[in-house]
Amino acid sequence: MSELHKFIFEGLPVRGMLVRLTDAWQDILARRAANSETGAYPAPVRQLLGEMAAAGVLMQGNIKFNGALVLQIFGDGPVKLGVVEVQPDLGLRATCTQVGEVADDATLSQMVNVHNEGRCAITLDPQDRLPGQQPYQGVVPLFGDRGEKLENISEVLEHYMLQSEQLDTVLVLAADDKVAAGLLIQRLPIEGEGNLAGKADSLMRESVLGQSEDFSRISILTKSLKREELLGLDAETILHRLYWEEPLARFEPLMGETGPRFACRCNRERVGQMIRSLGTEEVEGIIAEQGQVEVGCDFCGAQYRFDPVDAAGLFTGLPADVPGGSVH
Ligand SMILES: [Zn+2]
Repeated sequence: MSELHKFIFEGLPVRGMLVRLTDAWQDILARRAANSETGAYPAPVRQLLGEMAAAGVLMQGNIKFNGALVLQIFGDGPVKLGVVEVQPDLGLRATCTQVGEVADDATLSQMVNVHNEGRCAITLDPQDRLPGQQPYQGVVPLFGDRGEKLENISEVLEHYMLQSEQLDTVLVLAADDKVAAGLLIQRLPIEGEGNLAGKADSLMRESVLGQSEDFSRISILTKSLKREELLGLDAETILHRLYWEEPLARFEPLMGETGPRFACRCNRERVGQMIRSLGTEEVEGIIAEQGQVEVGCDFCGAQYRFDPVDAAGLFTGLPADVPGGSVH
């Protein structure tokens, strides 16, 4: 069962989260494998999308926000787009668009940053968005501070969190064909810390330095977690192995109904809106050619078919999903 574990280090300004996606991740992979047009993801793409899925759950779990967190990677190589969307109730979906061959040992930059134009975007889309209100979006390049291409999505997201939230973050991610998992440690802001430089309060300075050492020590422990351990061990074992000497306080894990799980939000009405946005001419052209309009959902694989009557209904405002819509 997929699960999200939250914890704090008592008395220290550090919090953390561990996510393990099992059934939710396997569901996403199985739906992709069942798509006869695309087939299953190659291993490097699977790893990228799985790590993004784990990170998306951690980032959604980390904010108090009533809306979707959408993590996207826009690639300039064979992988054009990776999308992970996580709702406030931890329902999640994910998909990747691949157009070219991906070698078995392809790196992140070989997939999405071949011409230095790949980037990553994090969008917070409020649930009850007011008319005209834009979702908040942050975009980060796939380069490190010294201009080097980043090869781990975890480093890209650490940069993002430092930039956007001003919070030191350590992120360890891994994914294979069974599990997508992640561990996040974040240093919490200390009251007044921002003004510290201008203050002569040496006692406060010392205490902040002390707390900063706590974060460094916990960071080092966190970074020592190996990919195989993150994928293969259960949450109890990982947390005990890393932090057994630390004052760890855990919250009730989120799993099952309240935990991360696959959930697609597509429906016939939204697909109808999308078709309507193509315009009458375009839609009539498709019907002339194919006899109907068929749209597949990239996230869950659902197929939506609109025959000529359904399609015409989209433009006249008649219910498109009731056969012979005007019959009472
Ligand atoms: Zn769907």
